[in-house]
Amino acid sequence: MSIELSAIEYRYRDATALAGIDLTIESGELLALLGPSGCGKTTLLRTIAGLEFPDRGRVRFEGRDVTALGARKRHVGFVFQHYALFNHLTVFENVAFGLRVRGWFRRPRRAELERKVGELLELVQLREFARRYPAQLSGGQRQRVALARALAVEPHILLLDEPFGALDARVRADLRRWLRDLHDRIHVTSVFVTHDQEEAFELADRIAVMNKGRIEQIGSSETLYTRP
Ligand code: ADP
Ligand code: ADP
Repeated sequence: MSIELSAIEYRYRDATALAGIDLTIESGELLALLGPSGCGKTTLLRTIAGLEFPDRGRVRFEGRDVTALGARKRHVGFVFQHYALFNHLTVFENVAFGLRVRGWFRRPRRAELERKVGELLELVQLREFARRYPAQLSGGQRQRVALARALAVEPHILLLDEPFGALDARVRADLRRWLRDLHDRIHVTSVFVTHDQEEAFELADRIAVMNKGRIEQIGSSETLYTRP
């Protein structure tokens, strides 16, 4: 599903977070939002998600105006930097929660729930970890559970806010390759926030370089010359 942002402006009480954003993201594309802390990446992502509503401008999904719709109605999946897993629930139950939260499986038959969660855990290569608790997993494994939970709702759009930010360099590099492979298989339109140039260049189809609430440059890793 394509995303079109036109003339998006967003102000917090004492800060302009988005100062006129025009951006079209193609269906199936993996786009990185790259830029220093405070440039507006998270606010832009939350605006796409329907967690923030812009002061001006329109958000369209596949040509349909969703500016006034909340997150639930936009059919998006999120993964955030800090693991938002429930520590008292198993991996299985964490992923099942992703299904239940939208009411799709309000009273699921156990067999159906097991099949669906099993598929998602297969996708993130954690099937044998279903009965474990988050504390028994590595940081990278926990983020893969978070991803499985986000994908549980079969989102049209996947939004990732520094999902590997808390992990060490080697794990980050592994997960980057892994996410790239996953995206090549499922082709869900994805927007990825990072302040790490290498991560953006390696992972994304295109990179939007942000500064002070604007997009300064946009292009593929071959066409951008911001690399030092
Ligand atoms: P980034 O994700 O690139 O670090 P943010 O979108 O979080 O940038 O922030 C953009 C600007 O808006 C910054 O100046 C930040 O301090 C400000 N800001 C972000 N969230 C809030 C908030 N909840 N209240 C007030 N100002 C905020
Ligand atoms: P991120 O790491 O995604 O940029 P932060 O850790 O900066 O997020 O912010 C965490 C939360 O605090 C977010 O919900 C954000 O909206 C809010 N926030 C960020 N900057 C400010 C600010 N200057 N004033 C108030 N809230 C803020």
